[in-house]
Amino acid sequence: MPMNVKPVPTLDERINDIRMRTAAIINDEILPNEKKLWRGRASGADEAERKESRELREHVKQRVKDEGLWAPHLPQEYGGMGLDFLAHAYMNEVLAYGIGAGSLFGVVAPNSGNQTILVKYGTEEQKQKWLLPLIDGKLESGFSMTEPENAGSDPRSLKTSAVRDGDEWVINGHKWFTSNGFAADFFIVMCRVQDSTGQFRPGQMAQIIVPTDTKGLKIVRGVGVWGAETSDHCEVLYEDVRVPAENILGRVGDGHRAAQDRLGAGRIFHCMTSIGQMWRAFDLMVERSITREVHGGLQKDKQFIQGFIADSYMDITAARLMTINAAEKTDRDDQAARIDISAIKVFVPAAYTRVVDRAIQVWGAAGVSSDLPLAGMYHGARTLRIADGPDEVHRVLIAKNVIGAYEHGDGWDFGN
Ligand SMILES: Cc1cc2nc3c(=O)[nH]c(=O)nc-3n(C[C@H](O)[C@H](O)[C@H](O)COP(=O)(O)OP(=O)(O)OC[C@H]3O[C@@H](n4cnc5c(N)ncnc54)[C@H](O)[C@@H]3O)c2cc1C
Repeated sequence: MPMNVKPVPTLDERINDIRMRTAAIINDEILPNEKKLWRGRASGADEAERKESRELREHVKQRVKDEGLWAPHLPQEYGGMGLDFLAHAYMNEVLAYGIGAGSLFGVVAPNSGNQTILVKYGTEEQKQKWLLPLIDGKLESGFSMTEPENAGSDPRSLKTSAVRDGDEWVINGHKWFTSNGFAADFFIVMCRVQDSTGQFRPGQMAQIIVPTDTKGLKIVRGVGVWGAETSDHCEVLYEDVRVPAENILGRVGDGHRAAQDRLGAGRIFHCMTSIGQMWRAFDLMVERSITREVHGGLQKDKQFIQGFIADSYMDITAARLMTINAAEKTDRDDQAARIDISAIKVFVPAAYTRVVDRAIQVWGAAGVSSDLPLAGMYHGARTLRIADGPDEVHRVLIAKNVIGAYEHGDGWDFGN
């Protein structure tokens, strides 16, 4: 069924217009063609079918560009929409309704995150060499931070080192879950920099651009996830990898801040994306319940199913309002937004998991089949509780801030 998007009375005309035009593309171009858009070798499609899929994708991308909806995350000078924060968040919830729609609107992780970091921290030369070809689709990229031997949830524990030797950085380390690893032409690598005394000190983090064909960089394997043999989340060894000194992004010490820039406010966009996907799962669930006969009646008339629908309605509404609240605080630079961002980072993926779980249950066997997007959503929702900072780290941050306020003699003001 088409996504039911109408103008939101509290939003300005411009944001509503972006949402309505995005929904029109989702409804006209993406939903009716979802089965055809993503056929590839892995799905057993023949050459003619793959060609048809490629042409369909190009057709949708062209309409997106003609409508001025391409690359919402990029400034206009780099060919993007130049959207402000709130408009981008509100667009994401509509965009995410269509499976894979992000890439048809020019937003493909991890390239989009790397583009944002290059826009903010890149020198003019770095932008010419790495950013522009990345935007044009002539280069692919990855972000290489997480390490198998050290806790990704605690960046202070990361050990990959960068040592300055003349005009070069020499990088040694072991990473994994570097997504898009096989296709990438370069990685942005999170390193700990040795200072002039030969010591590694906390805070001396840097992000360094490393072309994937550099000597000493070895892709060990694609780490299989969710039972698959392999994936493009790669394990990577860096053994005396040398890159020019000018490949550093920003200055030594900026690495942690750049990672926060990537993840911090980005979490709001991810949560709005999750809400769009929950919306889709909800529509699938309710739609099924009004047609499927079970044990002498339609599912919709069974109280168990009504419970699923009501609980999912509450999950989506709560998740959405919490996310909009965090987005509005972030938009007005309210420092307290940090706590709300952690709250949604825990709440939204958990709510998403519950909603998809119920939709799968209502669909029975079809729910876990690849005929529907629900199984993929379920994996995605569960993974979100780990990626971008696991739940526990965010719970700790919320609790510490709340307790701190009480220790200072204040209560918590839920109105602000
Ligand atoms: C599909 C996928 C794609 C990814 N893509 C990328 C990528 O492109 N680039 C990249 O660099 N990384 C990527 N990651 C890695 C991801 O960012 C890390 O998995 C995440 O940061 C957690 O780090 P970790 O796996 O080392 O878990 P750990 O840090 O070892 O944490 C494991 C568990 O310890 C517990 N824990 C942690 N801290 C606390 C605490 N303070 N109190 C109580 N319990 C705690 C939590 O239960 C947590 O889940 C990806 C991961 C996945 C699953």
